[in-house]
Amino acid sequence: MIKFDTFYLQCPQCDAWLEGHIVRSELVNKSTLYSDGKTLNDNYITEPQKIVVCPSCSHWFWVEEFKDPLVTAKKPTVPYYTWNHWRFFGVYFSSNAGRLALVEHYKEFLKVINDKDKEIYIRRLMWWAYNDLVRNNYQMHLPYLFSGKMSFNVWRKNRHKQLEGRRLFKKHHEEYLENMKALLVLLKGRYTPDDEQYESSILEIIELYREMREYDEAQKILDTIPRRTHYIANIEKEVRRKHDFVFLVVG
Ligand SMILES: [Zn+2]
Repeated sequence: MIKFDTFYLQCPQCDAWLEGHIVRSELVNKSTLYSDGKTLNDNYITEPQKIVVCPSCSHWFWVEEFKDPLVTAKKPTVPYYTWNHWRFFGVYFSSNAGRLALVEHYKEFLKVINDKDKEIYIRRLMWWAYNDLVRNNYQMHLPYLFSGKMSFNVWRKNRHKQLEGRRLFKKHHEEYLENMKALLVLLKGRYTPDDEQYESSILEIIELYREMREYDEAQKILDTIPRRTHYIANIEKEVRRKHDFVFLVVG
């Protein structure tokens, strides 16, 4: 069964063609949600990649929405770059080095953009990239090994990667905090209750405070929310425990 919709887009600078995929949501087997809002469908990030760096000429451009007229389902008649050439700017994002390389890309983008929504988008992805260093730390603990999801050798190698990620996360903690602070400033007061993004921005603000170890601030906002979804209840539990790491909510 084909699980992807394939699309093609053209670099506005050099006219090179790029191929990309979007996971078809009706065919997703497994959704994974983390406390920072990052969501994966069958291991593919659901957040669209709005910044494209052309693999042919290095020109970079925004794609707000992956639909006509910018993208087409029609296969070009000339050679094209496949998804791996430009997805996450060609970075091998499942390695720790790749995650930090992604952060460097985001820093470069921040230097040249001048738009609050775009800055929010970039800073959020940068936050997630730092968190990726420790996102799956739960896998290095023994219960995960005993769950049988990994063989011993795979688990041992993965554990090594997780420990390295943790070390790098600590090393970059200052800049990770700086980015969260800037994101928080952008989000506070950005949306009103009439906006579609309002509710999710409140949850994001709580999570930012928690990861910044400002538990009292996080709790203060939690106290104003009458509803307790699975997600909110989990965040609150971690706030009370004074835990600051990103964690797996569903998956
Ligand atoms: Zn180009």
